[in-house]
Amino acid sequence: MAGYFKDIWQGITTVIAGMEVTFKHLFEPAITIQYPREIKEMYPRARAMLVNTIDDCECCYKCQRICPIDIFVIKGIRAGKDEDLGMLPTGKPKLMYILEFDIDFSKCLYCGLCVDVCETESLHWESPQEASTFCRQELYKSFADMPEEKKQELLEKEAAKKAARAEAAAAKAAAKPAPKPVPRREDKAGEEGE
Ligand code: SF4
Ligand code: SF4
Repeated sequence: MAGYFKDIWQGITTVIAGMEVTFKHLFEPAITIQYPREIKEMYPRARAMLVNTIDDCECCYKCQRICPIDIFVIKGIRAGKDEDLGMLPTGKPKLMYILEFDIDFSKCLYCGLCVDVCETESLHWESPQEASTFCRQELYKSFADMPEEKKQELLEKEAAKKAARAEAAAAKAAAKPAPKPVPRREDKAGEEGE
């Protein structure tokens, strides 16, 4: 019988202890928000989304090389010596055209290694309030903004340059004198026997 009343007493004191915490915060302002009607500001250092300011990118491929899961797709073509592509934030001239610069965020680990190695700081984190999406394809982001015709033009030029280089290398190889034939062992033995 004593145990029965003890249990009731324990139940009452436990409820009072729990409600004490509730009553303490009852008249304080709420810390929850009515998402999605209300959206909270993200912290400025949040690793929410990678963004590449393509004009500041030198196309060095360091981010691609360091990424542990290889999710960058980068394609660049070196500009001609007489072409001026502007300056980089590092003070160096921009030397590469960037045809493609894609990141598949659906695979990203958010480790930040790519941002750490980017010398020009063109690759950086941004904190959009709504980075989530229902569609996986929307997580594949392309940052290069070159028109398709310009890309084709550059690719054709590059292919022509490569072909010219290969032709020059072949011509150089053909112009070299043929190496002297190495005498065979039997020929040498025959000469010694005579
Ligand atoms: S944050 Fe890490 S995983 Fe994501 S793209 Fe950069 S290096 Fe790759
Ligand atoms: S490391 Fe920076 S500069 Fe180099 S390719 Fe990546 S984003 Fe561009």
